[in-house]
Amino acid sequence: MGILNRNSEIANRQLTIGNRPSAIYNFGMRVRFAPSPTGYLHVGGARTALFNWLLARQQGGAFVLRIEDTDTERSSWEMVEGIVDGLRWLGLDWDEGPDSGGPHAPYFQSQRVERHRAAAAQLVDSGHAYYCYCSPALLQEKRAAAETAGGGWIYDRTCCALSADEIARLEAGGVPRAVRFRVPAGTTRFVDLVHGPIEFDNAVIEDFVILRSDRQPTYHLSVVTDDIDMAISHVVRGDDHISNTPKHVLLFAALGAAVPSFAHVPLILGTDKKRLSKRHGATSVVEYRRQGYLPEAMVNFLGLL
Ligand code: GLU
Repeated sequence: MGILNRNSEIANRQLTIGNRPSAIYNFGMRVRFAPSPTGYLHVGGARTALFNWLLARQQGGAFVLRIEDTDTERSSWEMVEGIVDGLRWLGLDWDEGPDSGGPHAPYFQSQRVERHRAAAAQLVDSGHAYYCYCSPALLQEKRAAAETAGGGWIYDRTCCALSADEIARLEAGGVPRAVRFRVPAGTTRFVDLVHGPIEFDNAVIEDFVILRSDRQPTYHLSVVTDDIDMAISHVVRGDDHISNTPKHVLLFAALGAAVPSFAHVPLILGTDKKRLSKRHGATSVVEYRRQGYLPEAMVNFLGLL
């Protein structure tokens, strides 16, 4: 009892760093905002960033900014700058990030690709993933046939059960291979801090690709590997990611890591209840700044939505 109490006393001590009272120091909480610089800072993204920041500041945890720039064709430096400027304008500061650095650098996802490849190799070695030699054309053909027959299609696991001889033949022929995660039978459950308990029947989750045949990691692998490496304790992101979360829960477990807590926050909708888009008016934070809105008003509005 003594040790436990003493530790939590130290962990909860009120600290003042510089002129900013850093509230209660909770060394455990680590949250992140992980924008893809394929577009400007959308008000929905800004709200997700705000919630992460508020949580980190209230709990005395760490707020990490990670730029998810693995889609090199659609990402641009201009968008990175736009996102960073937008966050700064809103007054959201981060403890670790691309410019400030930190113990888990680099904070650009594109610079972490070797880590993602190593995680894929680890999953193949442990039997949680396997090589898939199916060509995109063959997969497309199967999908189209299933759709013509009126059904949906998920990967039929052709390569899950290849014999050692077949694999040797494909390897000898230099057939390109992707890496797929082997989704186990059963149910994947998690308790969402906003929505409550959520469960997915694993039968509806396909053996998803984690490393493409050009050795580029997919979003699922990158995000989970980085969240593990950056010791993220709480993943707070938009509702549009709920369907990805069972895959992430399975990946965390297969990589032998603790599964973080998840909180999926609602998307911002227009008055017509449709996802906010340009039809509804300005969706970019920078646009509001240009129109003369004060950052305090924007933060207040986003926080109270
Ligand atoms: N990069 C992802 C996005 O912009 C976010 C990933 C995540 O929060 O897990 O949608």
